[in-house]
Amino acid sequence: MLIVMDKDATQEMIQGVVGKIEALGYAAQPIPGGERVAIGILRNTGPVDPALFLDMPGVTQAIPVSKPYKLVSREMKRENTLINLANGVTLGHGNFVAMAGPCAIESEDQALTIARLVKAEGAQIFRGGAFKPRTSPYSYQGMGETGLKILDKVRRETGLLIVTEAVDHDSLKQVAEYADIVQIGARNMQNYTLLRHAGQIKKPVLLKRGMYATLDEWLMAAEYIMSEGNAQVILCERGVRAIGGHARNLLDLATIPAVRRESHLPIVVDPSHAAGRRDLVPPLARAAVAAGADGLLIEVHHEPEKALSDGAQSLYPQQFAVLMEEIRSLKPGSWH
Ligand code: PEP
Ligand code: MN
Repeated sequence: MLIVMDKDATQEMIQGVVGKIEALGYAAQPIPGGERVAIGILRNTGPVDPALFLDMPGVTQAIPVSKPYKLVSREMKRENTLINLANGVTLGHGNFVAMAGPCAIESEDQALTIARLVKAEGAQIFRGGAFKPRTSPYSYQGMGETGLKILDKVRRETGLLIVTEAVDHDSLKQVAEYADIVQIGARNMQNYTLLRHAGQIKKPVLLKRGMYATLDEWLMAAEYIMSEGNAQVILCERGVRAIGGHARNLLDLATIPAVRRESHLPIVVDPSHAAGRRDLVPPLARAAVAAGADGLLIEVHHEPEKALSDGAQSLYPQQFAVLMEEIRSLKPGSWH
């Protein structure tokens, strides 16, 4: 249930509603945005009687929220969430943000070379894993904290912001210190303890869709993060398991309008992990932008044939340059 306060409601009236929610054994969560304060009721197991609140001073409406996810839902918050990042970059409705870089950080030279190239083509955020969740324990696992230090240097030298993945609680603590956006990967989308910990950090979280996850399961994963107090969640569609061997995954672009309908959270698309091969990446990227994605996460490598992970799906810098040019013509007027 969402309790909407009158726009002239006093702090005392708001506190009165919060107190009543807590006295009933539920949790109260003020929802930011808009002219008036709204307070979400969480942790109720059954329906809450609106009459309990409607006659309280300052209360104008009590709206039942029918979805299992509450804080994530558009029923709770009508306005789109904008993620304000450093350097004036805003991610969210109407703005388009390009995040690009290698799958994994391999060396300082590799990271800086690619960062300078993607920056020159208009990327605002540099991606690159220091901790890699690999299907095989024998595959390259990433540089760990050394990789984070390299990412820090990339930020200082190029001014690009950094998105990088945390794979468990220990790496989350380190990643949260260095990253501008913390990525939770597809394989961890249902790691509920990690999601809860991600809800306690003060950095935006990019939550990838699990490769078998329904939209509801994905939004419930976002709810885990938000329920711990972190409202800065960015959803990232990266494809789900599919039949056929022509692509690594099936890029589900229907999630873009579906997320817009169900949630106020921004949604970006990763065509690289969906495609698995570089020739498929540009058309999927253009389709994602045309379908209304708030941004793209793209793997780019200056020497993809030597890449330690995901070389086959990494764009050459020149291909990335062409793609960015094409995207600019698709999104006139909303380019940073
Ligand atoms: C990645 O972004 O490098 C990654 C491992 O992605 P995903 O979790 O989508 O497989
Ligand atoms: Mn990758």
